[in-house]
Amino acid sequence: MSDGSHRHKVVVIGSGFGGLFGTQALKKADVDVTLIAKTTHHLFQPLLYQVATGILSEGEIAPASRMILRKQPNAEVLLGEVTDIDLENRTVTSHLLERTTVTPYDSLIVAAGADQSYFGNDRFAEFAPGMKTIDDALELRGRILGAFEQAELSDDHEERERLLTFVVIGAGPTGVELAGQIAEMSDNTLKGAFRNIDATEAKVILLDAAPAVLPPMGEKLGNMAAERLRKMGVEIQLNAMVVDVDADGLVVKEKDGTERRIEAQCKVWSAGVAASPLGKIIADQSGAEVDRAGRVKVLPDLTVPGNPNVFVVGDMMAVEGVPGMAQGAIQGSTYAAKAIKNGLKGQSPANREPFKYFDKGSMATISRASAVAKVGKLEFGGFLAWLGWLALHLWYIVGYQNRLVTLMSWAVTFLTNKRGQMTITEQQVYARTALDQIQGGGAYSIPPVHTSSPKAKAKPAVEAKKPADGPEVKAPGAEEQKQSEKAEKAG
Ligand SMILES: Cc1cc2nc3c(=O)[nH]c(=O)nc-3n(C[C@H](O)[C@H](O)[C@H](O)COP(=O)(O)OP(=O)(O)OC[C@H]3O[C@@H](n4cnc5c(N)ncnc54)[C@H](O)[C@@H]3O)c2cc1C
Repeated sequence: MSDGSHRHKVVVIGSGFGGLFGTQALKKADVDVTLIAKTTHHLFQPLLYQVATGILSEGEIAPASRMILRKQPNAEVLLGEVTDIDLENRTVTSHLLERTTVTPYDSLIVAAGADQSYFGNDRFAEFAPGMKTIDDALELRGRILGAFEQAELSDDHEERERLLTFVVIGAGPTGVELAGQIAEMSDNTLKGAFRNIDATEAKVILLDAAPAVLPPMGEKLGNMAAERLRKMGVEIQLNAMVVDVDADGLVVKEKDGTERRIEAQCKVWSAGVAASPLGKIIADQSGAEVDRAGRVKVLPDLTVPGNPNVFVVGDMMAVEGVPGMAQGAIQGSTYAAKAIKNGLKGQSPANREPFKYFDKGSMATISRASAVAKVGKLEFGGFLAWLGWLALHLWYIVGYQNRLVTLMSWAVTFLTNKRGQMTITEQQVYARTALDQIQGGGAYSIPPVHTSSPKAKAKPAVEAKKPADGPEVKAPGAEEQKQSEKAEKAG
């Protein structure tokens, strides 16, 4: 694959599961690797909800990519948001503040992941942020704990009720985990911490347009999770499609077409995913197709037509039977790394074995000492599943120090109900808006990115006014939400 005049250059976009594991898999290869990502860290997304609910700090789940790779001499890390990929000239263009960098490649691994999808209703993001990044998790922590603080100051019964109602939209693994943790936090951690309100009276609602909880994990585990959540006081509302969201609440459409309103200040969106817009850029140039979630329909070797050196992996790839989970990204990027190494040994792309996904199962934790797990045909829940969940997540956290600190944080929370990361600041809640106003996009980028990320249009919610007459809301179809739930993470 190399022309022999220089060392083969691999560019990797993204420092998530796909990007990091792909880079590490090239450690001993005779290549130079440039990893370009818009964040300085490798984020362990499965534990974001624990940052949002005060169990873990952001550093524990997001170590600096540069530090992880410092002992890999053939790898360099560039901070920047990729805004363009030129397949013909084999270059990747990225931006950091006013600086534009054009990086040439011989092989490219694109692992830029996915963002939250609001099914075309991007304005919902203003009042119901998703949970995909460290910023999102910290903002949510600020919003959740901020709502309790405001309730403490209110003398008005109705206002208090609204402030103490938390709605999680989307009953996939992320929604289940978050709803369970908000309930645990209000019932245990915050019990007795306020003088004017009783934190245990907080109401947590888990909503979904689909008829089941945890649809990707099947009926048995979904029912198990729902039962456990109900025991914890979480109200589950299924077949309930969100058709409008504003500062003070949301409107839900029932299956029979009737609409009702829920008053709630704190809403969280965990209902859908949309792949990075870089997928569309690649698809447009290569003739590949993208699916409804913007994922690239890659060839059996995870490349795109006419470009056997361009691999699209992880949450950006659409491959039958491969879920949008960490394992899909890890296995996809290590496959790509192997194909690149084989190419250096002279293997023709035509002789590549197709990518095969090995399903290691999925898990979702519900509360302390309770989780559900699916491994092959085996489906189980409860304490054993929870122990398995703890062990697995600990194993995949990058770095011994992070594992140790996480273990200690878990011990404190699970044994005492205390949480060590309850700090919130004004900036956590308002920085998103401020940044959007300054630069109209991602945290580090000045130029407009090829993205329709809802965040680019987001505004603060805590003090946001109800929009007077917003644009007509196109309701997401139940089927569309269901499809997206399937693509949503399980684990
Ligand atoms: C809240 C949550 C909980 C989850 N729980 C589980 C679980 O329990 N088990 C499980 O298996 N999976 C879980 N997942 C899914 C799993 O995290 C993803 O499937 C996995 O992270 C996908 O890896 P990836 O490399 O494709 O993308 P990501 O890990 O999302 O990485 C994308 C990377 O690309 C970078 N990037 C994006 N756009 C650009 C750009 N334009 N320029 C430069 N860099 C860019 C990002 O900064 C990031 O570094 C969860 C996901 C979320 C959000």
